[in-house]
Amino acid sequence: MLRELVRAGVDVFRISFAHGDIASGVELLRRVRAIAPDLAIMVDIPGPKIRAGSFGTSLVTLNVGDEIELVEAFGEVSTIQRITVEREHVLSQLHPGDRIHIGDGGVSLEIVRSKKQVVARVTSGGAVMGKPGLSLPSSIINDRLPTDDDRLRLEALRDEEFEILAVSFVRSGSDVDSVREVLARNDVMIMAKIETGEGVENLLEIIERSDAIMVARGDLGVRLPIEEVPHLQKVIVRLGIRYARPVVVATQMLESMTHAQVPTRAEVTDVANAVLDGASDVMLSGETAIGDDPVGTVITMDRIVRRAEKSFPYAEWGAGLGVQHLAASSTRASRVTAAITGAAWRAAMDENAVAIVACTRSGMTARAISRFRPPMPIVAITPSASTARQLRSSWGVQEIFLSSANDIDSLCDVALTQLKKVGLAKSGDPIVLMAGSSSGGAAITDTVRMIIVP
Ligand code: PEP
Repeated sequence: MLRELVRAGVDVFRISFAHGDIASGVELLRRVRAIAPDLAIMVDIPGPKIRAGSFGTSLVTLNVGDEIELVEAFGEVSTIQRITVEREHVLSQLHPGDRIHIGDGGVSLEIVRSKKQVVARVTSGGAVMGKPGLSLPSSIINDRLPTDDDRLRLEALRDEEFEILAVSFVRSGSDVDSVREVLARNDVMIMAKIETGEGVENLLEIIERSDAIMVARGDLGVRLPIEEVPHLQKVIVRLGIRYARPVVVATQMLESMTHAQVPTRAEVTDVANAVLDGASDVMLSGETAIGDDPVGTVITMDRIVRRAEKSFPYAEWGAGLGVQHLAASSTRASRVTAAITGAAWRAAMDENAVAIVACTRSGMTARAISRFRPPMPIVAITPSASTARQLRSSWGVQEIFLSSANDIDSLCDVALTQLKKVGLAKSGDPIVLMAGSSSGGAAITDTVRMIIVP
């Protein structure tokens, strides 16, 4: 199945460590790595997410008006009479009137008694299965990141090869800093999942301190009024891309395909709209984790994305962006990268270049040109295999070549040979190339060249 998913067009595999035990997550990661050595692996750590004990593998229906007892217990099943909450010291903080949402928010409960027993009434019914997440009032969950559970996972993953760490329930820039400190790896990008009100309030500092962003619409739509989700998606995508962070739009994108063969028209429109909003990546969750036809779902998503990309307003997007600095508190390096990528985009548009080549060590130059959404392919040349895999999450990076050349003339030679080989350039075509000159000392991309293919 993994091999077929690679063939169907997957760029990044997300392995959620919120489900299953740590050892099986690591086992899965190694299996994916062996099968997809060139793709990116995203590890997702759960943060302070509270889960219910398992309802089992078939759907269980909770009906409006049902009264259900809540108990704190680990490893015990949940039923329609009794839901087990896998966290200590939370039920005593609940009061009558408090609301709890189950899973992605379809099922809601209201606390009716909280003295000797904690009892909740179903106010919005629906079906649940497995170990759904429980959303409790946010005043109850104050754990700082990384949580103890996250730390256990990071410890087990210390020597594993993965490219992106998705961090759940990021609420501030300092959450990102603390996870970065514990992770202590500079070969892994940190992706902040925006899924709480605090995350939205502190969006700019979170974007500034992370390497990538996820619009985690499942929890976002539970913690904030659901009608805010489409508007927040647009704000988060635009701001993230402006700062050259890949932005993933996630959750319920083709939800009905978990069991149906064809998506709803609304889902198709949602995936296309995410592309038109400027998202770098669109993500599948349950559809591919437990769905009937993971491969068919990926193929469907790929078709929708390719069609949407034909209608993307490339020229307006790039022109509207202007030369923005790449961090709120801008450094010299980020200002130079912003200026050089802005100049490269302008040159490529004016001269109708067939490709923009980004020579990049960390991937930043490729991500910075990607934010302009140029209509021609972005080609990355990097000495680092992990950067090459990370760039799978960047929009428009079509070809990635490994090369350790570091003077500009050699990089130009590599670019020309490779572009001709893959059929992206022929004699007489203009190419724009960005690289760092060796005179600069520090690793800054400070040079743009327009090359006419000889
Ligand atoms: C989400 O809440 O939308 C999300 C992506 O988080 P997860 O699937 O990890 O619960």
